[in-house]
Amino acid sequence: MDIQRVGVIGAGTMGAGIAQVFSFYGYKVILIDLDQKFLTRALNTIEGGLKRMLEKGKISEAKLKETMANITSTTDDTQLKDCSIVVEAVVEDVGVKKEVFKRLDSILPPSSLITSNTSTISITTLAAATSRPEKVCGMHFMNPVPVMQLVEVIKGLQTAEETIQIVVNLAKKLEKTPVVVNDSPGFVSNRILLPMINEAIYCLYEGVATKEAIDTVMKLGMNHPMGPLQLADLIGLDICLAILNVLYQDLGDPKYRPCPLLKKMVAAGYLGRKTKKGFYEYG
Ligand code: NAD
Repeated sequence: MDIQRVGVIGAGTMGAGIAQVFSFYGYKVILIDLDQKFLTRALNTIEGGLKRMLEKGKISEAKLKETMANITSTTDDTQLKDCSIVVEAVVEDVGVKKEVFKRLDSILPPSSLITSNTSTISITTLAAATSRPEKVCGMHFMNPVPVMQLVEVIKGLQTAEETIQIVVNLAKKLEKTPVVVNDSPGFVSNRILLPMINEAIYCLYEGVATKEAIDTVMKLGMNHPMGPLQLADLIGLDICLAILNVLYQDLGDPKYRPCPLLKKMVAAGYLGRKTKKGFYEYG
């Protein structure tokens, strides 16, 4: 499959990063969100990231301009009609995602692939909202997308082997390392990561240690590049809660029960870096 045009729907933390890597590697990207203000924010984030690379001498001015020129941003999702593949990166809500998949199915030609960057929602369920379940799989990038090496490629019950191979090859073209896993709540990455983050929040909630102490133990003791509470702020506390809720409901095991402190923080609108306040404050 000759992929030239890639759609990215949802221009938040992840959508902006995904658009950036595709455009950086020469793909024409159509970036979609519900409102122009989200698209402007995403383009500013992408340009800011590229400018930092320019300042460090990692890219040229021409590469920066070429990368930005590869991205078209619009609120009109029918512009996706010529894309060979779309990566969905809207909010982590199964109802919203199913609607988006239905809509993409009606806009895209039958040969196009539809992938999701979901952290934990069933790929098989999203695929069932389309008339092409064999052309649907997970393409799960890690945050921050331009930096992180892994792409978890998730095989739904009806995903064709050919679809997996196309997405694996595409991830390699972005100089990422794809790892294929089966569809199961949280896949591999979040099934392991989120219980650790949740346990760190329980330690804080139960007064076992301060947030700084918890993060330092995991950084210096386990050689993690950042502590679990810092990482939760980076991921977004709403996203962490959504993932834990899916693990808890779908696997039915109380070990995934989200910590009440996490629920309270999300209810208060303390979502981490994106709202400038989570476990830490960001200026
Ligand atoms: P976000 O809240 O930063 O961005 C979501 C964007 O989707 C928003 O700009 C919103 O306006 C837009 N949106 C909502 N409904 C839409 C619709 N119907 N059509 C078009 N746009 C719509 O969220 P995020 O952190 O970028 O997460 C996006 C997806 O990526 C989620 O599924 C999440 O679980 C997954 N993910 C997140 C991380 C992370 O660290 N944040 C890591 C891996 C995967």
